[in-house]
Amino acid sequence: MKRIVVLGAGESGVGSAILAQKQGFDVFVSDMSPIKEKYVAELNQYNIAWEQGQHTEELILNADEVIKSPGIPEKAPIIKKLREKGINIISEIEFAGRYSKSKMICITGSNGKTTTTTLVHYIFKEAGLDASLAGNIGFSLARQVAIDPHDYYIIELSSFQLDGMYDFKADIAILLNITPDHLDRYDYKFQNYVDSKMRILQNMTENDTFIYWNEDPVVTKELEKYDIKAKMMPFSIQTIENMAAFLENEKLVINLKNNYIDMDINKLALKGQHNIYNSMAAGIAAGVEGIKKDTIRKAFSDFSGVEHRLEPVAKVRSVLFINDSKATNVNSCWYALQCMQTPVVLILGGKDKGNDYTEIEDLVKEKVKAIVCLGVDNTKLHAFFDGKVENIADAGSMEEAVNKCFAFADKGDTVLLSPCCASFDLFKSYEDRGQQFKECVKRL
Ligand code: ADP
Repeated sequence: MKRIVVLGAGESGVGSAILAQKQGFDVFVSDMSPIKEKYVAELNQYNIAWEQGQHTEELILNADEVIKSPGIPEKAPIIKKLREKGINIISEIEFAGRYSKSKMICITGSNGKTTTTTLVHYIFKEAGLDASLAGNIGFSLARQVAIDPHDYYIIELSSFQLDGMYDFKADIAILLNITPDHLDRYDYKFQNYVDSKMRILQNMTENDTFIYWNEDPVVTKELEKYDIKAKMMPFSIQTIENMAAFLENEKLVINLKNNYIDMDINKLALKGQHNIYNSMAAGIAAGVEGIKKDTIRKAFSDFSGVEHRLEPVAKVRSVLFINDSKATNVNSCWYALQCMQTPVVLILGGKDKGNDYTEIEDLVKEKVKAIVCLGVDNTKLHAFFDGKVENIADAGSMEEAVNKCFAFADKGDTVLLSPCCASFDLFKSYEDRGQQFKECVKRL
């Protein structure tokens, strides 16, 4: 019997184990950390062998194939050993894809994945289609394929998932943008990360659709290297000709062969230039599937956005607080600053992933009156921003950060948490960071 070893017992690992068990494989799950109680209960319920707190080599290196959690880096000793033995290592999506004929709509990019994935899902549901979220959001694809199948999967793909994908094919792929992120996991070589993102195109045929941002300098350069069979559907806010979606006189237009949709951009529920891109990408995907224009228009104006992404929290004595905790890289903060229309007090900092702050320097000089550095180690922020803004201060907790921001802010200003960094030095996750921000604001 073929032996499948699953490394990492989070949502994707446990989902993979359930699917592998159902497919009749000999399955073993191993996690270096303690496994969450609910997952232990599930593994037991399905009679799946597991271990936690260790990787027992004799039980792992005899695998025919390994499904690796995207969180486990390539440099982990167990991965090195598996590679030395030439054992196939794949990701959960690759594995699940083998057992499903449903339509796969896959979204990747450095920024905007969750927003766009959620929006696509929202439009499809509004159209009455049996669509479900998967990938980095919601239940894992493997679990759903095993026990709760759907007609459409709207899948958010990180570069780490893509790294373990070989034969999987998307029916519709959306590549939003590529800017530096996660360089710590790619030997600090941007091209490695780019190559990983471009894997979203692999195996696509002329029946499939590839949606991408026409002005992304990295993506357009990369596309020259590939022989792409899929139908190309670029979107743009600068160009009209040959675009599947474009802007014309304050209208977002989706122009497909059998589907022409236009909508006043002021009626879009999601604000900001980046969200015009996200809406265009989602709208093309919906149009390709033949969803009616009225449904798409209504979904665009009703969609309420996703928590921790430019989420307005409250106005306290005429100071607006915005939670953009999910801005864990410099580019996403750029977009946040770009749509600010008042002076800004900005909270930056956390675990730096190899950031270059030059990208936001001009916007900071133009709009930011004070920076509060919220991190264990703020030296890099000071080295870059000292002298470039009127005020710069440090904070060791969210409460201190919010209080200092409030002190710097005047009536009409905006306090923006858009930290450019991961959260793990002071918080459990970006959600925890955003949650604490909201609570501290509410206590003001
Ligand atoms: P991801 O899932 O790729 O991390 P999110 O939708 O969670 O993306 O958004 C992450 C951050 O990036 C938020 O701060 C958001 O304001 C910003 N953002 C959203 N869409 C885009 C885009 N198309 N380009 C650049 N930044 C974006």
